Amino acid sequence: MAETDCIFCNIIAGEIPSFKLYEDARTYAMMDINPFNDGHCLVITKAHSINLLDADPADLAAVLPAAQIIARAIETALEPEGINIIQANGPAAGQTVYHYHSHIFPRRLNDGALLNWGHAPGDMGKIEEIYNKIMAELG
Ligand code: 5GP
Ligand code: ZN
Repeated sequence: MAETDCIFCNIIAGEIPSFKLYEDARTYAMMDINPFNDGHCLVITKAHSINLLDADPADLAAVLPAAQIIARAIETALEPEGINIIQANGPAAGQTVYHYHSHIFPRRLNDGALLNWGHAPGDMGKIEEIYNKIMAELG
């Protein structure tokens, strides 16, 4: 269901312009208008959902194949040194548009994107405690 005050719903409806790259029955891909690196683009679901947490699994299942199509085109056209597929859920994760989208995020070595965290060994007791909390929800 489209939301009239949602910028991405308005883009899909053709009411706001975009550099459309691709669309299929469930997804729509376009250039991001505030790109971090050249080729930064977005795959969004055609159906409105806030983010991963409330999206229809069938829409989510369509997102990765669409992302693969775009990523392959970027790989050939722009020859980045890497590509992240990134998706934010909630403010602390960096979500600013509350309509599901995955970023296709081309990377350059030493581009300074603050996405790469170091690998420090975890506390196994703490990991197990958190694991048990999540597993209690999964049943
Ligand atoms: P988020 O911060 O929610 O993970 O990502 C939202 C993305 O949407 C941002 O990268 C932002 O640049 C992009 N964005 C915001 N408004 C528009 C718009 O009107 N058109 C396009 N193509 N991208 C937008
Ligand atoms: Zn929307």
